[in-house]
Amino acid sequence: MNTTTPFASAHKASTNNVKVNDTPLTFELLEKLVNEQKLNNTFLSIKAHGTIKNLQVRVAPKQKKPYPDFGKVAANQPVFNYENVTGTLVGDFGNDLYTGVMAGGWHIHFISDDRTVGGHVLSFDTDSVDLKIDIFDTLNLHLPTNNTDFTKHDVDFAGLHAAISQAEK
Ligand SMILES: [Zn+2]
Repeated sequence: MNTTTPFASAHKASTNNVKVNDTPLTFELLEKLVNEQKLNNTFLSIKAHGTIKNLQVRVAPKQKKPYPDFGKVAANQPVFNYENVTGTLVGDFGNDLYTGVMAGGWHIHFISDDRTVGGHVLSFDTDSVDLKIDIFDTLNLHLPTNNTDFTKHDVDFAGLHAAISQAEK
């Protein structure tokens, strides 16, 4: 694989997990489930397959050097709305304590079975889906320390925090 990306969050399936079958799902219902299961203090991921009745996603266009700030990219992402599209939701959760390493809260992506619809989920609601919540106790952070574009880059941390907060909430 020789595709590059400025950021990636990856994990293997966890043997520590919770399964909830035949549940409707929205961001609010997911938060309620996590609260009920007392899973707020750890890292989580979800996977659910089914039909999304209403789906809103955004997609970041491919960027070229000199790369624009994250805030500019995030502010110029096209938004798409779909109805009754079948596919897989995958997402990660970390609580606000870890904001900075990640954006606290849920971050969910969707890809349709026919691979024609996908993106960063802004809102969704499903009928009945089978949900798996993986629970993680470790976070590994890898930085590209041999990449001089990365090591020599002057980061506007205050602006970056503001942009992440704006884009991911
Ligand atoms: Zn995303």
